[in-house]
Amino acid sequence: MTITEPSPTAAAAPTFDSLNPRTGEVVATHAVHSEADVRAAVARAREAASWWGALTFAERASRLDAWKALVTRRVADLAAVMEAETGKPHGDAMLESALAIDHLAWAAKHAGKVLKRKRVPSGLVMANQKATVEYRPLGVVGVIGPWNYPVFTPMGSIAYALAAGNAVVFKPSEYTPGVGVWLAETFVEAVGRPVLQTVTGLGETGAALCRAGVDKLAFTGSTATGKKVMAACAESLTPVLIEAGGKDALIVDEDADLAAAADGAVWGACANAGQTCAGVERVYVHERVYDAFLGQVVAKAQQVHADADASAQIGPITMPGQLDIIRRHIDDALAKGGRALVGGAEAVGDRFVQPTILVDVPEDSSAWTEETFGPTMTIAKVKDMDEAVAKTNSSRYALGSAVFSKSNGMRIAERLRVGMTSVNGVITFAGVPSLPFGGIGDSGFGRIHGPDGLKEFSYAHAITRQRFKPLLALTTFERTEKAEDQLGKLITMLHGRGGDKRR
Ligand code: NDP
Repeated sequence: MTITEPSPTAAAAPTFDSLNPRTGEVVATHAVHSEADVRAAVARAREAASWWGALTFAERASRLDAWKALVTRRVADLAAVMEAETGKPHGDAMLESALAIDHLAWAAKHAGKVLKRKRVPSGLVMANQKATVEYRPLGVVGVIGPWNYPVFTPMGSIAYALAAGNAVVFKPSEYTPGVGVWLAETFVEAVGRPVLQTVTGLGETGAALCRAGVDKLAFTGSTATGKKVMAACAESLTPVLIEAGGKDALIVDEDADLAAAADGAVWGACANAGQTCAGVERVYVHERVYDAFLGQVVAKAQQVHADADASAQIGPITMPGQLDIIRRHIDDALAKGGRALVGGAEAVGDRFVQPTILVDVPEDSSAWTEETFGPTMTIAKVKDMDEAVAKTNSSRYALGSAVFSKSNGMRIAERLRVGMTSVNGVITFAGVPSLPFGGIGDSGFGRIHGPDGLKEFSYAHAITRQRFKPLLALTTFERTEKAEDQLGKLITMLHGRGGDKRR
């Protein structure tokens, strides 16, 4: 169900326009949903959740499959809405939709296997108990999404929360409300009930969702807003999942395939005009291949152009305010002695930013320390992979990363303190539905995708069932000294022998 109309009680209820960032034209007008509207949506969701949560995994999977099939048949429409609201090239919008569909399919198919009741070992002390655990739906999940990947990113929460048996109320970014409306409308068309609803509006509508009595709030957006969401949810002890920003590093070892590394660096930094949470922003290159890598990366970046033309590889900066941040980072780097090998200060236009490659930038510059969210990358020479690992791990952000090396890729990857790493590729982890996606530090906490993503939207219910009377009656006031003595002997036998060898 989509709530496109303002509340009937509101006199002259407010609306807002979504704009095409390529042209500034109005794409559509949407309601600014009030706190009362959001609460009403959550109440409807609670009713829907009692039906949805009572279905079997197979029954839910067949309904999610029906939605998946409908979205797939109309994927060109979805991509068109996304293209209009974000300005991203049609091919990128199709790729994003395809990946989101694949995640929906995976979540529907695997929810039963991951979440259903399973037997676990009960241990010798409790040998008379049969122990099982199942993961049950929380109820209603609120999802707040960003504009940069307005389908793929929120679907990482929506698909997994639905598959786990929850109803969802989705608040898309004010820059991409139409995508949220489209998803909820197709869901109701396929499933017939408002298990997924979209509420539209500005930041206040998101804040209202945090306080509307949802059972969990899944937030994707900036670290600063994530802190506000967490504070609002703390008032009611509502659990949160925070997928926030990143400052991802790409490492190039001396034995790397330099053409592949340069290709990955340029795509990872510039795809979607650099507006990617797990995009490449920092690059550390072994000194032995630094000059050769720079040559290749510059040649590649010079072929990429941002333009309103549909054939351009990258589109506009979706959120106008981001242009100032990108400009500030480039200016700061150049003022502190950095050099732009491609692009530079003049690369930042009114709507578009051209690829920019910065070198010789001091480590305290914002180009190294803050999320830029534009088609820029800052490259540094390192003497060895120890230095590359230390520098990668020094950021307060820790979302994704990439390593290019023919023989040491896994060894380097294992030393990185981040949520995800691609070896000899970039951002490939996001396309593998069975892998968890998320970060640590200022990049947030909790995981979407994979079994972890399904469990994120569930609570564990543990059950022990007595199979026969205990040999040692311990959990009773009838407990005897003999039973306590036997427990002491059993525990000593089981656990008393470890550690001797170390002395
Ligand atoms: P914002 O933090 O500005 O907004 C995110 C969402 O929060 C929007 O829907 C926004 O609504 C809403 N919001 C704003 N204020 C509040 C509030 N007080 N309470 C509740 N909700 C609120 O992020 P962006 O949309 O600019 O997205 C870009 C950021 O998202 C980047 O930092 C990027 O790295 C990160 N991101 C992280 C990903 C990850 O998986 N880790 C994936 C994709 C992006 P409105 O738009 O109406 O203001």
